[in-house]
Amino acid sequence: MLLPLCFLAIGIIYSQDAKMSAWELTEIWDPEPEVVNPGNSFRDAPSDAIVLFDGLNLDKWVHKNGDPAKWDVKDGFFTVKPGTGDILSRDVFGSCQLHIEFMSPINIEGNGQDRGNSGIFLMDNIEPGDGYEVQVLDSYNNRTYSNGQAGSIYKQHTPLVNSSKKPGEWQTYDIIFKAPVFNKNGEVESPAYVTILHNGVLIQNNSQIVGHIEHIGYPKYEAHSSKLPIKLQDHASLVSFRNIWIRKL
Ligand code: MG
Repeated sequence: MLLPLCFLAIGIIYSQDAKMSAWELTEIWDPEPEVVNPGNSFRDAPSDAIVLFDGLNLDKWVHKNGDPAKWDVKDGFFTVKPGTGDILSRDVFGSCQLHIEFMSPINIEGNGQDRGNSGIFLMDNIEPGDGYEVQVLDSYNNRTYSNGQAGSIYKQHTPLVNSSKKPGEWQTYDIIFKAPVFNKNGEVESPAYVTILHNGVLIQNNSQIVGHIEHIGYPKYEAHSSKLPIKLQDHASLVSFRNIWIRKL
């Protein structure tokens, strides 16, 4: 009597696992970060910062093929132009302090990962894949897997809290990034670490990055140069950006 029940239980577990899509295997839903109402965190570039966007043009950004960035610049900010592709900084960076302001589209469309999705990739253009993504998402009343919401290190680290503002309101990320170091054999000598304030609230506290982003499967490191571009993602959402500056560390 007990044996058939045992097989039944195992069967259910296996069939549930089999129902999961490959990309769902690395989604972590629990715990859900607590919601925090943030304060003001806007600030101008310090005197030693490199300004990557000053409100006027996208001269410091290109598409992957080297074409000038085609995203729309208007009223001191710019907005993803869906279908034109990601944009990369012309300059390359390693360890840095990065300030960036973003706004989720005021017209709420889609759910989960399909609402206000973009991303800031630290050290992108590595081979064979993308770099290390700080997720940009409209996470105001929009549940998705915790390690894929705003301020997550995508599919690696859930933010400590959810300090998202409403769509249509400007938000800030202040990112302190320590680049990974590889030895001559291409092995990791020291992994990357990242600390992030989202709207002035600590959401990643020296989180250790475990490898470059993987949508399916587990992240791993591939040796790459010590300085690479920063990338902003075209994920087909009308996310806007302004006031981007960076300090090399
Ligand atoms: Mg994204």
